Amino acid sequence: MRAASGLSGHRPFTWLIVVAACSASSKGPDQATVAPVVATVAPVVVPAAPAPEGPPGVKVTLQEVGLEASSLDRTADPCVDFYQFACGGWLAKNEIPADRARWGRFSEIDERNKAALKELLEDDAKGTATDPAAKKLGDFFASCMDEAGIEKAGLASVKPLLDKAARVKDKRSWTTALIELQKAGIDVMWSVTAGPDAKQSSNVITQLDSGGIGLPERAYYLDAKYKDKLDAYAAHVGKMLALAKSPGKAEDVVAIETALATVSKTPVEQRDVPAAYNPTDLKGLAAQAKSVEWGAYFKALGFAPSAKINVGSPKFFAAIDGLRAQFQPAQWAAYFTDHALEAVADTLPAAIDDEHFELQKALTGVEKRPERYKRCIDATTAALGELLGKQYADKAFSPAAKQTASTLVDAIVQSMHDDLASLDWMSPETKQIALAKLAKIVRMIGYPDTWKSYAFAVKRDDYAGNALRASTFETHRQRAKSGKPYDRSEWEMNTFTVNAYYEPSANNTALPAGILQVPFFGADRGIAANLGGIGLVIGHELTHGFDDQGALFDAEGNLQNWWSPEDKAKFDAKGTCVADQYSSFEAAPKSFVSGRLTLGEDIADLGGVKMAFHSYRTLRAGAAKQYVADGLTEDQQFFVGVAQAWCDKDRPAEIQRRLAVDPHAPPKFRVYGALRNLPEFATAFACPLGTPMHPQQACAVW
Ligand SMILES: [Zn+2]
Repeated sequence: MRAASGLSGHRPFTWLIVVAACSASSKGPDQATVAPVVATVAPVVVPAAPAPEGPPGVKVTLQEVGLEASSLDRTADPCVDFYQFACGGWLAKNEIPADRARWGRFSEIDERNKAALKELLEDDAKGTATDPAAKKLGDFFASCMDEAGIEKAGLASVKPLLDKAARVKDKRSWTTALIELQKAGIDVMWSVTAGPDAKQSSNVITQLDSGGIGLPERAYYLDAKYKDKLDAYAAHVGKMLALAKSPGKAEDVVAIETALATVSKTPVEQRDVPAAYNPTDLKGLAAQAKSVEWGAYFKALGFAPSAKINVGSPKFFAAIDGLRAQFQPAQWAAYFTDHALEAVADTLPAAIDDEHFELQKALTGVEKRPERYKRCIDATTAALGELLGKQYADKAFSPAAKQTASTLVDAIVQSMHDDLASLDWMSPETKQIALAKLAKIVRMIGYPDTWKSYAFAVKRDDYAGNALRASTFETHRQRAKSGKPYDRSEWEMNTFTVNAYYEPSANNTALPAGILQVPFFGADRGIAANLGGIGLVIGHELTHGFDDQGALFDAEGNLQNWWSPEDKAKFDAKGTCVADQYSSFEAAPKSFVSGRLTLGEDIADLGGVKMAFHSYRTLRAGAAKQYVADGLTEDQQFFVGVAQAWCDKDRPAEIQRRLAVDPHAPPKFRVYGALRNLPEFATAFACPLGTPMHPQQACAVW
């Protein structure tokens, strides 16, 4: 995400759209080296209905084409539950590890990458390197691994911050506490960052939005269905305050956050892009929230705001004066203290660190913490991501691999071009503009061309201080972009991250080296398996340029309508078809997917799988032989490749949390939704009309 990678987990609203609301960092050594796209196996032929003795073609095994026979459940009917058919074996033999709330293919790669990052960081931490980057990484990692040192240091490094938080007596000290915490990237009251001006994307402007709650979203405070979570939260906050010997009361923290939640947007409302564009200036801001001296506020934060300032949630800012008057200084002191503590807790002695983890347990169902070294990899990644990313890229991702991945992306762009050009519902005028936008998408592959530097002190014996300095530095780096030109080449994900993204304001897409691994990609896999895996990911990201949000931005990344009214009406109706269908998916008993929350991701999945399938067909066109893998035709292999990249298990609490906040449907329903709406799937498996995987009414946007 563009926003400051602060110590706390809050993420202000951003345009950034990822393929999976996924996982921490990771790093992929072996597998990451990409291979020739038009590799080894596989021909293309439209499969007829399978003959009794099986389809014609050269007989090979699933393993030889890069798919997993053991992950299949051959007893499942692919026309009824294809996810079970492709993933049933995997589901039967995988349990969610105690330290994970979700376990799937992204997590598997993440674990693999962590092993490689561990090697790099342990090497850095030996202290023998002369390279300053290696020394910085090594010292940071070592400071995190030093549990005895952390116990001994106690709260010393964070005490000045906690003191400021606790010392709220009047309006002035309230502002001081707010500013000190926000400087450190801690989420209190509202978020303040910088990002492209939605309507003039070459300029970066200051962006303000709602913030300051400790639970995942507003409904946790306001909807009775989350009462057990709110109770657990209140108990946890009470323990945190007691551990820090604060006189603050948990009920005051909950009361303030409930008031903030009441004036915050729902996750669906947050997806309304035009509603989040409310440019103003310092004067306008002063009119919205009179009790803050905004000029002095920005000065104290240490950066000059842009002349134009965007307020994401005017309703929230209009409520600030009232909120400040509604609560007493002691209540605010409790609120600020708790937020500061939660943000730094995992750098502190075990008693506080462990209590902080209790909240994650309650919210996600996760049972135990990851091993120390894994937590320290994540912390080092959050603090010094591109230093580690460079070490990773140097070791694991060759220029040849980058070239090969580029070829793949080009093939899918071509498919998307052909698809757009042949759409029957769009007028030629709108189509021309869409094609021009597609042609302008900047494709970033593997790793950035230039690397960030990290100008803050790292001490081998001061983990809490290191983390605080890192967060303060990164937060300021982001805010200081205010008023500057937008750098479209900057990466918003780490090189080793198992994910990908499209950024509407930049009209660019990034495919980090970290995801270019099995089961998404492998040098020796067949084309069908690779295009089902990474092909879908690439197609998904490109389609984001044309999902319900992306379609609001033009080729330059400006929020500007380029649609004729008739075409836009047809596009919106197609989106409604998708949203209604996904809203009927029951992800847990009586809990349904929120089709309006997941609409952008669902459109991207539907388009992505279609582009990937057409690319695979093109790459296999004219092949001399067709390969049949353990009885599966090449088309069938493609679809198994799609599903096997998304095999996944979630804990019940995690399913509930994600249904509330995650713009992605659960993986099972992403596969189900994407494939049942694609006619080529029904053909490949000869699914009769009316079966779950071949519904009477299918939806298609692109
Ligand atoms: Zn996405």
